[in-house]
Amino acid sequence: MRKTDVLIVGAGPTGLSLACQLIRYGIDFVLIDRKETTTPHSRAIGVQARTLEIYEQIGIAKALIALGKPAEMVRLIESGEVRGEAVLKDIGAGLSPYPYMLVVDQGLHESLLYKYIVSHGRSVDWQTHLDSFDQDSSGVTASVTNGSGISETIRAKYLAGCDGAKSTVRHSLGLTFEGDTVERLFYVADVRIDWQYSHEALHVCLARHTITAFFPMAGENRYRIVGTFPEGHAADEGEILYEEIERQIKIDTEMELNISNVNWFSVYKVHSRAVNEFSNGRCFVAGDAAHIHTPAGGQGMNTGIQDGYNLAWKLAFACKGIAGSDLLSTYNEERLPNAQRLLRTTDRMFQFGASDDWFISYIRTQIFPYVAGFALSLDTVKKALFPLVSQIGINYRESSLSVDDADFDVKAGDRMPFFRIGHNIYDQIRAPKFHLLTFGGNGTHKTARSFGELVDTHTLPLTDEIMAHFGAFHPFAVLLRPDNHIGLISNEISEEALREYFENINIRPERLRRS
Ligand SMILES: Cc1cc2nc3c(=O)[nH]c(=O)nc-3n(C[C@H](O)[C@H](O)[C@H](O)COP(=O)(O)OP(=O)(O)OC[C@H]3O[C@@H](n4cnc5c(N)ncnc54)[C@H](O)[C@@H]3O)c2cc1C
Repeated sequence: MRKTDVLIVGAGPTGLSLACQLIRYGIDFVLIDRKETTTPHSRAIGVQARTLEIYEQIGIAKALIALGKPAEMVRLIESGEVRGEAVLKDIGAGLSPYPYMLVVDQGLHESLLYKYIVSHGRSVDWQTHLDSFDQDSSGVTASVTNGSGISETIRAKYLAGCDGAKSTVRHSLGLTFEGDTVERLFYVADVRIDWQYSHEALHVCLARHTITAFFPMAGENRYRIVGTFPEGHAADEGEILYEEIERQIKIDTEMELNISNVNWFSVYKVHSRAVNEFSNGRCFVAGDAAHIHTPAGGQGMNTGIQDGYNLAWKLAFACKGIAGSDLLSTYNEERLPNAQRLLRTTDRMFQFGASDDWFISYIRTQIFPYVAGFALSLDTVKKALFPLVSQIGINYRESSLSVDDADFDVKAGDRMPFFRIGHNIYDQIRAPKFHLLTFGGNGTHKTARSFGELVDTHTLPLTDEIMAHFGAFHPFAVLLRPDNHIGLISNEISEEALREYFENINIRPERLRRS
């Protein structure tokens, strides 16, 4: 019997990125996947700013950016004519070190994560699938079978089901997957396009019944096209030939375009569903195993990566024996409302993009293309829209891990705002532990000394930029969780306040010193 701390089932973006995080914490894992290797397909191509911030912590953000292309601008097209344009390349300027959406193949993205895992002396058990598992009070016992048909038992302290939309883990745990299936058939195609438009822009064609998007990808004139067939389209997913897709693109966009070199295409049904719970005992679900939605807004894969990021530090602390089920239960507490909110947002985005309703359709084709360019140039619109789409706005304000002891604009549960103090603040808080930050004070070194390995300390100036970001105009302190969300924010954080915070969430720093 193989023993490990965490058995991860599924090496898609969610499972691979969870494994990368566990490496940061020095936690042992076994990662299995029934496939032969990482996906060869482009699938989810939009990488959001929050994902890049997470990758910056493990040192792979630059490498991923080098594999893709930021979406620099958007052109809105209606009846074959450009009706509006907006610059996207710095739409989140001042809000994130990555103020744009990166466009990169999921295949290249997964390969990079896999390379990180291998470069740290770990691997994936490819061609190995989960057959069944049981859990008891001290762990999970799983039966897996490899590509040669040999079965093996793996004993783990915890199990993470990152096994996609048809998740065996979710089914075995008896979790529900409530929601709907979207009537329309979606298509994606990776192609070369020769047309009058320059390659740096995302092109969005708005039509009476649908929306068709062309994402610029790395490579000369290469684009990913995403669109839908009209409601009631007769054929089934498996029956549609590429020629039908091309015909639909030409009808919907009314554009002069020459499509060639079709690398890959796929037709699929989209569902909008989420689990009722993200965990059951020692088992957790993450990514598509826990929530699936329309591709509107490029949220799916990024949300899975954030699930793993939220779960990783909690699993790590539990494996090290300094936290237990109380901390682990906050994974469900924090990620379930986020998934439910996401479903509502992506459903609304999809409704706006493809609804047949005459009023929505009128706004989509006759008003939106003309005003969107101007609206996106306004600072207030950028500041509202970018946090939503880039996922930097996700917060855990309602979580039992969030304690506000002051009335600032930034609250406990928010992601640490981005700012520079000569250097990027995120460069200073990469270590996989809590961080105590004192702004305009000098007491942190003394306060946190007795928390040794668990908390590091930073004394920072209270600049005008920091005051504006936080809405705090006198010295204050912040306790950041290892995932850089704020746990505690107060005018001052004393040693006693820190101790009380950890006691309330059942984290025992003294056990870390012993382990
Ligand atoms: C054609 C297509 C286009 C898409 N386009 C977009 C897009 O434009 N934007 C977007 O946001 N999302 C898109 N998606 C969705 C996106 O790809 C997923 O959100 C993302 O892959 C989810 O990652 P994941 O790791 O959670 O699951 P997956 O990528 O599905 O990975 C799950 C892994 O688990 C493995 N597995 C399953 N069962 C077992 C088992 N019993 N034992 C061992 N291994 C198992 C599978 O082999 C797989 O590798 C698209 C998906 C498809 C199919």
